[in-house]
Amino acid sequence: MNTRVILIKYGELTTKKGNRKFFIQTLYQNIKKKLSAFDVVITKDISRMYIEFEEKEEVDVLKKIREVFGIYNFQVAYKVESQEEVIKDTCLSILEKEKFSTFKVETKRSDKAFPISSMDFSRMVGGYLLKNLEGKRVDVHQPDCLLHIEILKGYTYIYTNQHMGLGGYPVGVQARGLLMLSGGIDSPVAGYLALKRGIPIDCVYFESLPHTSLEAREKVIQLSRKLAKYKDSIRLMIVPFTEIQEAIYKHCNPDYTITIMRRMMYRIMESLAKKYKALSIINGESVGQVASQTLESMYVINSVTSMPVIRPVACFDKLEIIELAKKIDTYDISILPFEDCCTVFVPKHPVIHPTMESCIKNEEKFDYLSFIERCIERVEILNITEEEQDSTTDLF
Ligand code: ATP
Ligand code: MG
Repeated sequence: MNTRVILIKYGELTTKKGNRKFFIQTLYQNIKKKLSAFDVVITKDISRMYIEFEEKEEVDVLKKIREVFGIYNFQVAYKVESQEEVIKDTCLSILEKEKFSTFKVETKRSDKAFPISSMDFSRMVGGYLLKNLEGKRVDVHQPDCLLHIEILKGYTYIYTNQHMGLGGYPVGVQARGLLMLSGGIDSPVAGYLALKRGIPIDCVYFESLPHTSLEAREKVIQLSRKLAKYKDSIRLMIVPFTEIQEAIYKHCNPDYTITIMRRMMYRIMESLAKKYKALSIINGESVGQVASQTLESMYVINSVTSMPVIRPVACFDKLEIIELAKKIDTYDISILPFEDCCTVFVPKHPVIHPTMESCIKNEEKFDYLSFIERCIERVEILNITEEEQDSTTDLF
């Protein structure tokens, strides 16, 4: 024996008693997919997951583990035989590689057949280490280095390091959601936070060629790719929005164009959600950020759908959103200057207190349902993966 194993402690899922099995199974599948290119053996029980790996792949495997939701923390442990001498030697060789002044040994003996109690064993190993390591001291209250020994039936885990995982729930424990992904800063962050809650997302981008450029589309593809890190592949639906947008500008009161445009987006989102079996719409709206995000605006816009609309960044400050965008590496893509359909058609005085009656009156001026139908028929779908190997699927 004497192999190394990654021990994974589950995140919040341990609090959900009834669903625990399903959560663990989902996390297991997600990790398996994430590590499919590596030579690993993954096993699990009710409290932890165990990954045996090839030494030379350690760094890359750990990097991938850090990108999986549902992991509270993980350690890289040595797995050795439960023999006193072997354990002592392994502890010594581990600590010889670490930088610290004070240490503490903590033993957990699950195998009661092991003849020495946890306390006694910690003391014994501590003494052995003190004798063999120069200039180190024991500090039981605030040690620089905490050495864990877990004695189980037939083998023992020894580890010092503890890494925090991403937390959240495994992606896939909730029903699918559709993210409205613009090229801006907010919506990719909203997508990340939805994924963190376990919602498997697909993305929808409203495109207004030729008023918006193909560079703007490329931006959205890049952003989807960043999100695909947390879900093995993401469908990006590109909705041809030009005709409906032009019709709005032709027929509606200029002050209401943004409000009406967003009502159309929500209607299309609901149709797409039904078609692709999603149960929520997710977007990057933030209360008060722009005219269409006052609560009055949200009310009239939201009223066209009965589907839950999740706004993960609704109550975040822009600076908080930016901080998260930098952390998930979407910020630099988002600030690229290509215009989006919302920015191209901004009216001079967008209404900030829209009324339902005015919305309805404006919408009566054109046959928006047939426009929506055409949009849905002509949606283009790209399959986006973390690496650059996207495939375009047929238009329909
Ligand atoms: P972001 O809010 O992402 O920074 P933005 O400022 O361009 O981008 P807003 O006008 O604030 O977007 O729109 C609010 C939300 O509506 C966006 O966060 C996004 O979820 C959605 N949205 C806006 N424009 C589009 C679009 N062209 N395609 C898909 N979703 C969009
Ligand atoms: Mg915004």
